[in-house]
Amino acid sequence: MRITASDALLVIDAQNDFCEGGALAVQGGAGIMPLIARLAERFDTVIATQDWHTPDQISFASNHDGAAAFTEIEVAYGRQMLWPDHCVQGTVGADFHSDVVSAATKALAVVRKGHNPAVDSYSAFYENDRRTATGLAGLLRERGVQRLFLCGLAYDYCVRFTAEDAVHEGFEAVVIEDACRAIAEETAAAAKAGFTALGVVEIAAADLTPHS
Ligand SMILES: [Zn+2]
Repeated sequence: MRITASDALLVIDAQNDFCEGGALAVQGGAGIMPLIARLAERFDTVIATQDWHTPDQISFASNHDGAAAFTEIEVAYGRQMLWPDHCVQGTVGADFHSDVVSAATKALAVVRKGHNPAVDSYSAFYENDRRTATGLAGLLRERGVQRLFLCGLAYDYCVRFTAEDAVHEGFEAVVIEDACRAIAEETAAAAKAGFTALGVVEIAAADLTPHS
């Protein structure tokens, strides 16, 4: 698959808290960071996302008495998974991993998500209420981007919802599978099924050919 000038690479949540030693570590997260940095070198347009919460974020289990992380609760916009506190604004955990600093530096824009304490945000396009847009679709359209390549963390949450919303917004979406890692097998299988149903293509990084 050849990269073109109207493609963009979306680097999803390549942050310390999602890597080994972080507050919400995804197994193998740190290991894909060098690959993500190499991928970013090949694209003219790179966009990064950054999970960016305040301490009173609704999805933090610590903000709900007696609730455990990795259980679901009912909130105003539906079911919400509870997480350990992670990616708090201005903390080291919210910083980009040191191996992707070059990609973050190259990024045309950094979309920060989950900053509203009352609404979590997985997708780079919409918050979890499914109504509040981040503005990313407009940015990409105005830049003439037609196809999005996705990599980062976690495959079964933020990569998944971003890829699905990309299709809904009229973009082609390609997930670079070996440049992603998932939180859990079951949700990863659900993500894969969703991709197949929506026409999200999955490739390996080695399948990409640089454009001239
Ligand atoms: Zn988060």
